[in-house]
Amino acid sequence: MSESDSQQQIAVVLPDGSELEVDADATVEDCAYEIGPGLGRDTVAGKLDGELVAKEEPVYDGVELEIVTDQSDEYLRVMRHSAAHCLAQAVERHYDDVDLAIGPPTDEGFYYDFDNLDVDEEDLAELEAEMEAIIEEDYDIEREVVSIDEAEERLADEPYKLELLSEFAEEDETVTFYSQGEWEDLCAGPHVDSTGEIGAVKLLEIAGAYWRGDEDNTMQTRIYGTAFEDESDLEDFLERKQEAEKRDHRRIGNEMDLFSIQDVTGPGLPLYHPAGKTVLKELEDFVETLNKEAGYDYVETPHVFKTDLWHQSGHYENYQDDMFIFDVGDDEFGLKPMNCPGHAAIFQDHSWSYRDLPIRYAENGKVYRKEQRGELSGLSRVWAFTIDDGHLFIRPDQIKREVEEIMDMITDVLETFDLEYEMALATRPEKSVGSDEIWERAEDQLESVLEAHGHEYEIEEGDGAFYGPKIDFAFEDAIGRSWDGPTVQLDFNMPERFDLNYVGEDNEEHRPVMIHRALYGSYERFFMMLIEHYEGRFPLWLAPEQVRVLPISDDNLGYAHRVANEFDDFRVEVDGRDSTLERKIRAAHDDRVPYQIIVGDNEEADGTISVRDRFEDQEYDVEIDEFRSHLEAERDEQRTEPDFLQ
Ligand SMILES: [Zn+2]
Ligand SMILES: [Zn+2]
Repeated sequence: MSESDSQQQIAVVLPDGSELEVDADATVEDCAYEIGPGLGRDTVAGKLDGELVAKEEPVYDGVELEIVTDQSDEYLRVMRHSAAHCLAQAVERHYDDVDLAIGPPTDEGFYYDFDNLDVDEEDLAELEAEMEAIIEEDYDIEREVVSIDEAEERLADEPYKLELLSEFAEEDETVTFYSQGEWEDLCAGPHVDSTGEIGAVKLLEIAGAYWRGDEDNTMQTRIYGTAFEDESDLEDFLERKQEAEKRDHRRIGNEMDLFSIQDVTGPGLPLYHPAGKTVLKELEDFVETLNKEAGYDYVETPHVFKTDLWHQSGHYENYQDDMFIFDVGDDEFGLKPMNCPGHAAIFQDHSWSYRDLPIRYAENGKVYRKEQRGELSGLSRVWAFTIDDGHLFIRPDQIKREVEEIMDMITDVLETFDLEYEMALATRPEKSVGSDEIWERAEDQLESVLEAHGHEYEIEEGDGAFYGPKIDFAFEDAIGRSWDGPTVQLDFNMPERFDLNYVGEDNEEHRPVMIHRALYGSYERFFMMLIEHYEGRFPLWLAPEQVRVLPISDDNLGYAHRVANEFDDFRVEVDGRDSTLERKIRAAHDDRVPYQIIVGDNEEADGTISVRDRFEDQEYDVEIDEFRSHLEAERDEQRTEPDFLQ
């Protein structure tokens, strides 16, 4: 067969790294059939270089291809997108003159945004029933490729869709529509084959959302929902969601008077009240102890720098849209989005010998990042937050020892809060700075640290930053939610940009390696996670109020204060209100105080106390000294639960 009469072939890369030769015009589905007819039939969608696409999409030479079937992790996403379409179809069946905006799947479900739609929570049940009917009717979901002109005609009554279309028209000559029954939508897909494939659906809430997330645009109506393969998965999800709502840090933060975020002070700018700052202070002290033991020196840098610094560090180029930038006279300044350049500038201000290294700087550094207003939420997404930041400047031969030390500190933190964790090593990406030698040396050392650490880890090939490999931690909270945790990031780039040097044993100048590390990450996110993890019932060492003394009657008030004085090494309060004991107990319980000391005539006569914990266990005739030494031990050992009565 000669070259000219064979169709041109291309190669796609499969997940196991092998290559598959296919015709140049092959689609995702064709590739699946090429692998095997069973897989071909089961194909729902595909991933091209990690991006989820319809199975009808053509592949291209060298692309990494993954086939998505109903067994894939991505399947839920595809099904939820189809569920979003069912929602829009249901809405249009029940309401006239609604304008459709966008309706994507999310990590937990889906939403669809509408304009000119007047609904409230009571209407959701009716819409849900309509969605169930659409699912029951089992419409085929059909994909159609349409020219821009034809799309314009079809979307004549949909101003938002037309706006999207005009953007697609700049790049493509055709767009795709997906239809089910009488309803269709401009949509890139992918979708399941028919509405009947959608398992169980639930509409969750209604919220306002700006068109394209921009507060200068119209506020639209967003309906959130979720979908699962079956009823029991949905039930599990709803239970977890309810548990998460019970633990919502915004509600608990308000009940315990920990923090507030107010309109007058600005969005995403948390204010810590005394109780909240008490917890934060304990968290700060804890890392400070770890930092001091590990030989860190504390430094302090201002909140604002001239943007010259951000030009030098490279943040200006890559980050300026997320920065707060302003002019003062002829100079431009910016609130710092990161602490690293300030620390690099401190290092640069000295000359160093190889014997001085490692240099370790620590700072509880406040940073500012301009997230979209619509994305701000409690302490989880904010404009101002504090990183328990640390930067090390080390010789390449010191990577292993230093990373080992940091890993010990991180695991110490996670174990202290009873958090199960996972680790991953992210290695060199295709585009990177730094020599082969330094990358190999660094990755080898990181791997040997991980091996020695003895905890399982994954290798995320090519997932490192362009400037260095990193170790990522993820941890799980009390209700099984997973969170991004601390990181250890090596950096070969910033030392170049800041021209950092030390004089080696050979009397020549050498580049140090920089390490960025945080044990909590951001205090805000960690605090939020802890509030939800403990449901506000902090361990004794963190609790804003550790002990509350409850006199049974006013007659015992004097004794109550004398007892409180015996615990003045703790955060102790006396409930001196004229109220019944039951009410005082209830209030201490609601305030999540770890221990209550109850004193009445009997205790006063014997010089003893009664102790009650938040599990409602109570013990009488306790010696003051005995309880105090228990409290000291419980606090200093940072036990996670009050355990005097356990
Ligand atoms: Zn869609
Ligand atoms: Zn840094």
